[in-house]
Amino acid sequence: MEVSGYKPTPPKLAMPRRKRICPSCGRKGYGKICHYCEQQKAAIERQERTLNEKRQKKKEWEATFEQDPIDLRALPDHVVVKARNIIMGLSNEQNYRYFGGKRLRHNRQIISIPVTRNYRMICRNDNGNTLPLEVLSHEDYNVCKPGG
Ligand SMILES: [Zn+2]
Repeated sequence: MEVSGYKPTPPKLAMPRRKRICPSCGRKGYGKICHYCEQQKAAIERQERTLNEKRQKKKEWEATFEQDPIDLRALPDHVVVKARNIIMGLSNEQNYRYFGGKRLRHNRQIISIPVTRNYRMICRNDNGNTLPLEVLSHEDYNVCKPGG
């Protein structure tokens, strides 16, 4: 063993970690990954996923209107759901009175069924069948007086 040239190895110091500047955001940080940019990226991906899910849901929702015997597209969602419920009931030969429907006094062939407080479904009596014609808001209803 050579003693003369012996130099005790200095205790290993932790490698001084060098800060590097992130090329995309300019922030200084340790390590290869910029945590700020990683978080940003993840947040954007999350947003895109939610947005895509929303778009997909909207598309599916819009497609359901093609099944309706009358156009319900202009109505608020909860009105659409209730109107479909009534349409389904009527097509299963449930009486319009079950839904609180009434014949109009000035035109007995027209039946008005409340959908919500603000909407009513106008139907036509056709040989005892109640055929939906349209869903009107209270305002529209008062303006056009269906069947009048
Ligand atoms: Zn960065």
